[in-house]
Amino acid sequence: MSFCPFCKKKISMSKAFCSKTCKENYFDLIAIQIPKPFVKRIYIFCNEYEREEEIIKFAKLHNWKLDLLKSKIKKVAAKMGYEDDPSVRNSIVESCYED
Ligand SMILES: [Zn+2]
Repeated sequence: MSFCPFCKKKISMSKAFCSKTCKENYFDLIAIQIPKPFVKRIYIFCNEYEREEEIIKFAKLHNWKLDLLKSKIKKVAAKMGYEDDPSVRNSIVESCYED
């Protein structure tokens, strides 16, 4: 047994991902680069509503899927101590995070 690297579902050894969507999302997520100063800015200087607006703008600017961007920002923010996310240690952010 192995695991889908995106959703962590169990899959057979012969497969790399459980679905085409997971494959696409996985590579889309890796392509998303979030600068630390951006995360710092939206967590320190923005309220929740403003943060949402900034994230939507950022997604549009780079043509990224909003839900993927949001989940990655949450993980980066957790690493930086702005969000409480116990799963962050096992997340794929580890392997693709850049300053
Ligand atoms: Zn999957």
